[in-house]
Amino acid sequence: MNATVPSYPDTHLYINQTWRATAHTQPVIDPSSEVQIGLVSLAAETDLAEAVKAAQSGFEIWRKVPAFERSKLMRLAAQLIRERAEDIARIMTMEQGKPLAESRIETLASTEVVEWFAEEARRTYGRVIPARVGGVRQIVTREPVGPVAAFTPWNFPINQAVRKISAALAAGCSVVLKGPEETPASCAALVRAFADAGLPAGVLNLVFGVPAEVSAFLIAHPVIRKISFTGSTAVGKLLAAQAGKHMKRMTMELGGHAPALVFADADVPRAARLLAAAKFRNAGQVCVSPTRFLVEEAAFDEFVEHFVSETRDIMVGNGLSEGVRMGPLANERRLQAMQELLADAVGHGAKVLTGGTRIGSKGYFFAPTVLANVASSSRIMHEEPFGPIAPVSTFRTFDEAVAEANRLPFGLAAYAYTRSSEKLAAVGELIESGMVSLNHHGLGLPEAPFGGIKDSGYGSEGGTEALEAYLNTKFVSEHR
Ligand code: NAD
Repeated sequence: MNATVPSYPDTHLYINQTWRATAHTQPVIDPSSEVQIGLVSLAAETDLAEAVKAAQSGFEIWRKVPAFERSKLMRLAAQLIRERAEDIARIMTMEQGKPLAESRIETLASTEVVEWFAEEARRTYGRVIPARVGGVRQIVTREPVGPVAAFTPWNFPINQAVRKISAALAAGCSVVLKGPEETPASCAALVRAFADAGLPAGVLNLVFGVPAEVSAFLIAHPVIRKISFTGSTAVGKLLAAQAGKHMKRMTMELGGHAPALVFADADVPRAARLLAAAKFRNAGQVCVSPTRFLVEEAAFDEFVEHFVSETRDIMVGNGLSEGVRMGPLANERRLQAMQELLADAVGHGAKVLTGGTRIGSKGYFFAPTVLANVASSSRIMHEEPFGPIAPVSTFRTFDEAVAEANRLPFGLAAYAYTRSSEKLAAVGELIESGMVSLNHHGLGLPEAPFGGIKDSGYGSEGGTEALEAYLNTKFVSEHR
């Protein structure tokens, strides 16, 4: 490994325009070495109360700032992120493990998210409804929903946060963001860019803490009017129940178990190459990662040959090292989960075609793994693996493929490869999923909707729908 090691900053809370260290801290671990590289401050209830108070006063300021000015400030924040991207990307790789190239892409792509929502800020149009009688004017206006509590996870420390922050700020909302405790510094660098761009006090606040305590406090607090969460379905359901109790609006971007259908009439080598790249990106810790590989019987051997070969080509190592295409898993829990899912699948008769083991004894490295003959009763065919294990199975008919794709309660992303335009249209229509990408991987652009159905949650984090989630509709009827 030839990594040059930059310094890693400790991360503090950001409340009412002030960075704040607290007495309670949690170590930040480099997942490639298991060495502690820094500390993150954890909020006490008093810190959370101050963050909410700041968000309340920040909202009163920000909602009155003209959309044109909000937009300008957001663009400046994007510019600052762009200028700092190299440093931020290195920090992200140190705390999260993903290859530096992926951290760079995530950091730079965040500027596009900010800029897209900055533009949308200027398009929160209302309308005029023709009245039934003379002298009456009926108008519809859009107003920011209020202070937002946003919860974001460790797999994309910037991408998950920037979608929520940008949409909220564009709409005129203030935010208390609970960032990821395990990968806090790159998320804090994102917040710092907005702060340095001149965001008024209290408009954007960043806290870390004990997740269940922070969410219980923020969701129940009367000042908070909207909840946005990205994470597991189990936690999402818990938070949705709490939010429902307090009648808070919410966006839930939860787990998935994306089917990837490969029909025999597809360009099979190309499908194998693109699916392997998508599967092992961020070591499989991606909510839209292709998960159940379903290949038409006639194409199985060809697909597996190419897919295994692509998988074996992936160089695993410290994400800061040249040439590394897959880093460690982000935390010990994922490593353990991979070992358990693999043992369960093999116990049910699965054949390991490549990988299947932890790499080394330091760092949370797990080999990119391909399994065949995976019994449908195996845990991996029901639970989101969120890691680098790809189970490949076969199907015989189109209907069988669609039925298997729709078998699980998840509905986030789905993929299919075929040269038949009829099958493309039918898959696009019949798959129960918030997003479907056919013959390529085209999800996650700021201008396109991003979100799931069924147990994968509701609401969108992209496209015009994402801004809707932070706006109230008001109807005013006046008689002159
Ligand atoms: P987890 O379910 O405990 O946590 C998932 C995320 O939710 C973390 O960011 C965590 O800090 C947060 N969280 C947990 N309990 C919370 C609470 N009571 N209030 C507020 N936030 C809370 O487990 P984990 O080990 O971090 O991840 C396990 C699973 O979560 C993964 O296998 C994957 O299925 C899912 N996950 C999904 C995404 C995504 O992008 N949708 C991201 C991270 C994790």
